[in-house]
Amino acid sequence: MRERRPFVGGNWKMNTNAESASSLARGVVDACESIHSAVELAVFPPAPYLLTVSSIFRSRSTSTKIGAQNVFHQPDGAYTGEISVAMVSDCGCSHVLAGHSERRHVIGESDELINAKVRAIIAGGLTCVLCVGETLDQREAGQTDEVNQRQIRTGLADVGQREMEHIIIAYEPVWAIGTGKTATPEQAQATHKSIRGLIAELYTQEVADRVRIIYGGSVKPSNAASLFSQPDIDGGLIGGASLKVEDFGLIAKAAASE
Ligand code: PEP
Repeated sequence: MRERRPFVGGNWKMNTNAESASSLARGVVDACESIHSAVELAVFPPAPYLLTVSSIFRSRSTSTKIGAQNVFHQPDGAYTGEISVAMVSDCGCSHVLAGHSERRHVIGESDELINAKVRAIIAGGLTCVLCVGETLDQREAGQTDEVNQRQIRTGLADVGQREMEHIIIAYEPVWAIGTGKTATPEQAQATHKSIRGLIAELYTQEVADRVRIIYGGSVKPSNAASLFSQPDIDGGLIGGASLKVEDFGLIAKAAASE
């Protein structure tokens, strides 16, 4: 039996409105009610809808968690437009994404800024889903491991061994996110294994055996089971398919049955 409890997160990105976010939240509760003992679930709605989703989840007493897609690393102050860890915590969040490829490559966040966010998220008592992944050019140049290792080494700088309990790593090859292209289960497994090896080197084998490494990049109901059956893949971060209740439910069930 797998010792690590799978984690499946739905990253809604900059999608939904007040009405569709509410109905998606209700749909996720209905679709996933029977599988909570086998899989940890979270949704990452846009920030304006965190409180709405939080109140729906509270009223339904669901175990599905709520996460924020982004935070700023400073606790408060003159940072117009930014949102702190304490603010998303107040809105009911237990998880936060850091280092998502869209924030690295569209917004331009550096490894160092991502590390500051990772440390702020953990210091604020929340779990950080640290996303890493190589671009297509980097993969074709044979730099997959080098890029992921650099993003992880810097992303986890000054994160102690005990704090690793509050880290989930998401391997998300940039060329597979939102493109319909998925890493094969073998490609993903090879990278996950190498990431777990790095965690053993940076911390201990025990930390490496416990940390969950999830896969993201065009996961769908049709490919979820083959990805999640790999020994080092502990669930998924789901973008496009998380906006469809039925697909997200099927993906979560695929993780629950591993
Ligand atoms: C993501 O946003 O993290 C993601 C993996 O997106 P998609 O599933 O659409 O590729």
